[in-house]
Amino acid sequence: MVSFNKQEGRYYIRRPEHPRSNYRGYVKRAVLVMEDKIGRFLNLGEVVHHVNSDCTDDRLENLQLLTREDHTSLHKAGFKLERSVGAWNKLPGWKIKEIHKLKKVGYNNPKIARLLGIADVTVKKYIL
Ligand SMILES: [Zn+2]
Repeated sequence: MVSFNKQEGRYYIRRPEHPRSNYRGYVKRAVLVMEDKIGRFLNLGEVVHHVNSDCTDDRLENLQLLTREDHTSLHKAGFKLERSVGAWNKLPGWKIKEIHKLKKVGYNNPKIARLLGIADVTVKKYIL
C-alpha cells in the first residue's frame, strides 16, 4: 500500500515488519527501492539521497546511497551555492555597472571580485 505524505512530499509504503517503519508501519519508498538494489537493509549511518532534489522521484537512477556525513556536507555545499547566487541577485546597480566597467578595461574576474568585495562566482555569473 503506497501513501503520499503531503507535508514531507514523499511516498511511503506500508511495511510494519521493516526495521525503519514509523509508528504507523510505513517506510519511505526511496529506502525500499535502494534496499531492493543492494539486497540488504540500510544501516543507521546510511541515507538515501535524491539526485535531482525531487523527493517524489524514487526511480533507482535518481537515488544515491550516502553516509549521513557525506549527505550533510553535500547539502551544505548546495546551500552555499544558493546563497552566493542570492547575493548576486541582490547586487546593487552601481556594483553591476562597476563589474562591466572593470571588465572593459581588462581586469580579470578574481581582481574584480576583490575590488568590489564580492565572490568570484558572482562576477562570473554576471559577466555570463
Ligand atoms: Zn539529500
